[in-house]
Amino acid sequence: MYDVAILGAGPAGLTAAIYAARARLKTVLVEKNYPGGQVAMCDKVENYPGHNTNTSGFDLSMSMKEQAERFGAEMKSTEIASLELESDEKALVASDGERICAKTIILTLGASPRKLGVPGEMEFIGRGVSYCAVCDAAFYQDKNLAVVGGGDTAVEDSNFLTRYASSVTIVHRRDAFRAQRIIQERTINNPAITVEWNSVVKSIGGKDTVEHVVLENVKTGKQTNLSVDGVFVLVGLEPNTKMIAGHITLDDGGYIITDEDMRTNIPGVFAAGDARKKLLRQIVTACADGAIAATAAEKYIEGAPWPQAKDAKT
Ligand code: NAP
Repeated sequence: MYDVAILGAGPAGLTAAIYAARARLKTVLVEKNYPGGQVAMCDKVENYPGHNTNTSGFDLSMSMKEQAERFGAEMKSTEIASLELESDEKALVASDGERICAKTIILTLGASPRKLGVPGEMEFIGRGVSYCAVCDAAFYQDKNLAVVGGGDTAVEDSNFLTRYASSVTIVHRRDAFRAQRIIQERTINNPAITVEWNSVVKSIGGKDTVEHVVLENVKTGKQTNLSVDGVFVLVGLEPNTKMIAGHITLDDGGYIITDEDMRTNIPGVFAAGDARKKLLRQIVTACADGAIAATAAEKYIEGAPWPQAKDAKT
């Protein structure tokens, strides 16, 4: 049996693995895809302290993984189908039936791209509709693109997309971006980018691939046709918490509620990273969560008491 089983290998999970393994706890990190989660898709990480050059999200994630392995953390690549959390011996149960048993579980489930839910979106996924600029930008050399959203991802990735595309039209539902000022400044100064303010995408159309989007101005109700070769939907994230709903206390948005030591409502079960309810979702806060969760798990194994859950809405 492991001391700590961590589910999800984004920065929170990788940091939890570094801290738990370095504390000489028998540690396993379970992930169905590749290490890094959302961060692995980041072209450049420039606000993680100490990395002020051109570190890619992928390289940073691989370096965290190697660090965790160096301290003795075991990596397992498998899909987890269910969780057994309530008893003292907890288990992550893989879809192939394997049971990964541990004294403590750290849930670092991350978040996934939110969908628009408009006609044509699902139909054209992979044929012009994308949720990842770093993954798909190169397919749009000299093409015209729409980017939907006004947060850090949409505004930052629009700039990145102009390395390939000849034009990017940002479609934002309000008249001001949510993105950080420094990111906005670069975008506003980029001649290949225009912004359709107060506008939403009503539908995405084309024959075999995307050829246009129908925009609606939310102030005037006027609809226009914008010819594009691709649409990047970058409208935020949804926590990957469906699997634990009903067991772990979540807020109305589906984010895991923890105390400041990353404890959930179930003794021995911790949560860290983007799937947790918190103010700021960044690599640095995910790493901090992971370090705290691993340390709190160590204390729990040593016999530290578990506080009563105050906010127990599931
Ligand atoms: P976000 O901050 O939640 O922004 C989502 C954007 O999409 C908002 O502008 C929102 O509009 C818009 N939106 C949401 N639902 C929509 C819908 N159904 N239709 C149209 N527009 C919709 O998400 P994010 O930009 O992906 O960022 C996620 C987290 O990662 C944030 O904490 C962010 O700071 C962080 N991040 C940081 C960096 C960086 O520091 N360099 C880079 C990328 C991401 P409203 O503004 O009107 O709500």
